[in-house]
Amino acid sequence: MLPGVETVWVLGDQLNRRISSLSGRTPADARLLMVESTRKLSSKRFHRQRLHLVLTAMRRFASQLRRAGFHVDYRRAPSLRAGLAAHRDLYQPAQVVAMEPMSFRMRRLLDELEVQITRSNQFLCHYEDFAAWAAGRTRLVMEDFYREQRRRLGYLMDGERPAGGRWNFDRENRLPPPGEAKRWPHRPRSRLDAVDREVLEGLPPSAFGAMPDGTWATSRRGALARLRHFVGEVLPGFGPHQDAMVAGEWSMAHSLLSPYLNLGLLYPDEVCDAAEDAFRAGRVPIASAEGFIRQIVGWREFVWGVYWLEMPGYARANALAARGPLPPAFAGTAETAMRCLAETLRAVNDHGYAHHIQRLMVLGNLALLAGVEPRRMVDWMWASFIDGAEWVMVPNVVGMALHADGGLMATKPYAAGGNYISRMSDYCSGCPFDPAQRTGADACPLTTLYWSFLDRHRGLLERNPRMGRQLAALRRLSDIEAVRRRAKEVTNRLFAGQL
Ligand code: FAD
Ligand code: SF4
Repeated sequence: MLPGVETVWVLGDQLNRRISSLSGRTPADARLLMVESTRKLSSKRFHRQRLHLVLTAMRRFASQLRRAGFHVDYRRAPSLRAGLAAHRDLYQPAQVVAMEPMSFRMRRLLDELEVQITRSNQFLCHYEDFAAWAAGRTRLVMEDFYREQRRRLGYLMDGERPAGGRWNFDRENRLPPPGEAKRWPHRPRSRLDAVDREVLEGLPPSAFGAMPDGTWATSRRGALARLRHFVGEVLPGFGPHQDAMVAGEWSMAHSLLSPYLNLGLLYPDEVCDAAEDAFRAGRVPIASAEGFIRQIVGWREFVWGVYWLEMPGYARANALAARGPLPPAFAGTAETAMRCLAETLRAVNDHGYAHHIQRLMVLGNLALLAGVEPRRMVDWMWASFIDGAEWVMVPNVVGMALHADGGLMATKPYAAGGNYISRMSDYCSGCPFDPAQRTGADACPLTTLYWSFLDRHRGLLERNPRMGRQLAALRRLSDIEAVRRRAKEVTNRLFAGQL
């Protein structure tokens, strides 16, 4: 034992030697603590692959630190609080230090437990700096923040000007699905070892979803290999079909890097540096490099800043007064005939993953239109996704997908009927419903619910100038009574698990 030495508490989403509480430390001046909390693991019905990833990555990081000479007190405890108390009893550390956590609730707990906090370096813009940027602005516009980040950090800049002459290549990146001839990149897999097996044997019985198949790396070394694979093989084709959905293709040209970024296995600067280097070397077109870097230095950082700006009230926001339950199909207790939903839920079951457009325009859109209570969606997605965490769920689900923050994240609701899905995917061709119909037994549930959503929230939406065109179309509908009847039937069937 090292009497009087400080303890650095490494949290489960800070799995990197660079974290500010650890960087520069040596085994002589710090003892390390890591805690697996039984209460946390069983607080939700988590996806098996999510639990497996977090626990395996924690245990591998502990081993890596031990190999570097650190004394690591790795504990399995009933709760984080109990784990820390037992550690303090045994080691009597002079003080316990941790880097700022990702979540508001965890921050409160650390303050209560008198843990000394170091400033987080897991984002490129600390949330206090984001708050300073946001102060005095009447609206928070991601694109403004993104450009500021590009200027400040120097990504894809040629002097004062954006590389390629434009800040945004969205127009090139919104193509519909390509034909069947398109070949999507293969995804590397790792072989599971003894650590994986030990973790899997100890998972709570409530865990659901397919067994891990090695898709998700569970160490920093593995995450770096996934980053190299992404930049070399996938990033060149990342841009054009970012918003498209293709049946049977769960990952298309997405990066699959979010779980590593969210657990600290990768840092955002090294990910962006790798993308920029590939662009500068001529291996990646500007539209793909820009499209990807915008996701990281723009959207991801924006979401993080908004979370801290708006918490704790943000998690309870429900501007549309949605009170509906979670559809049983989401929870896996019912089948669905809606092909877009079935394809998305299959990806969630098989990989704990759905790509952005599936999250926003299938799962989020359906929940928005049907009036699912935001808190239920947050809880379900948080537990079901490989990259789930409160800081990223709340702005994306409450704000972006469900418009429950009244328009802070998105100036108008991301509400769409079946025609949007039909344009951006190949799902509808194999579906028993017809995206062009809003009434009748064959009507696409999303199309019916879209019109019913506009009708139900007409009063609120009329105050939004960006909704004028949609509301004018609503006023022209001659069959609104039939739409209302069909919407009622669709909603009842969705919530009864019969759709
Ligand atoms: P790519 O499409 O390859 O994008 C690259 C990276 O950009 C991602 O890895 C991610 O780090 C970042 N990014 C892009 N958009 C966002 C965004 N809106 N918010 C935060 N980061 C972003 N992301 C999570 O990390 N965890 C979640 O639990 C999560 N839940 C979501 C729920 C909903 C309803 C929506 C609409 C979005 C959610 N997102 C979440 C954001 C985004 O969908 C995922 O980050 C992305 O799909 C992860 O897959 P990828 O790594 O292949 O992403
Ligand atoms: Fe989804 Fe409607 Fe298309 Fe079927 S017709 S796949 S329910 S959008």
